[in-house]
Amino acid sequence: MSNAIYFEQIKQLVDLQKVDDAIFAIRQDIERFPRALEDMERRYEETETQRDRILDKLAHLQDQQKRLAVEIDDDTTRIKKSKNKLMQVGNTREYYAMMREMDSMEKINRSREEEKIILAEELQLQNTALTEIDALHAALKEELDIKRSGMDKWKQQVENSLKNLNKKRAKVSKGIPQPVFMRYEFIRVRMEYPVIVPVKDGICSGCNIAVPPQSFIELQRGQQILSCPNCQRLIYWCEHFELSTEPA
Ligand SMILES: [Zn+2]
Repeated sequence: MSNAIYFEQIKQLVDLQKVDDAIFAIRQDIERFPRALEDMERRYEETETQRDRILDKLAHLQDQQKRLAVEIDDDTTRIKKSKNKLMQVGNTREYYAMMREMDSMEKINRSREEEKIILAEELQLQNTALTEIDALHAALKEELDIKRSGMDKWKQQVENSLKNLNKKRAKVSKGIPQPVFMRYEFIRVRMEYPVIVPVKDGICSGCNIAVPPQSFIELQRGQQILSCPNCQRLIYWCEHFELSTEPA
């Protein structure tokens, strides 16, 4: 074919590729957007699990605190009673026995007081952790709500864009001779994106491999639409395009 027809067809194919670039970008967004939402939902659920765990710990610590308070109370009452009894003891042996008993009761009480302090510290730590996780939980919830309501709007926008692009695609395709268009479509549905690529400095920009010299000479002649022998994509010489078909 003549150079003029060749250039015209390459230009049409590049225009079609531009529409397909936009469609490709939208399709990637369609894949990414719900995944981002899922990630956020997962993080939200994680904070919920963490929160439940902290609440469990807090409940357990509070139980222990109650139990300890009761025990300390009981012991204090018992020690008080023993002190009163001590006044009424008849002999020395009994007196020492009672003193020993009181001594060990006081020791137990002291260790309970220590336990009480440790429990109070642990409670404070868990309460701080709860405050932190509550804040994170609330922030995530808010973000999630915004994202969820944005999702519907975004879907609508994406559908509209795709509809417009498909219209544009039909218009652009109509001008391309059927066999050339079929060749493009054949590659598009079977190969990795994109379909048509420039050759720069003798290198196919689709696969980044040098085009064999014979093919490159033919490509420069500009009379026949060629495929890269390596990746099978349609190729054109970038300098041709810049010189002859840039005007649009
Ligand atoms: Zn290639």
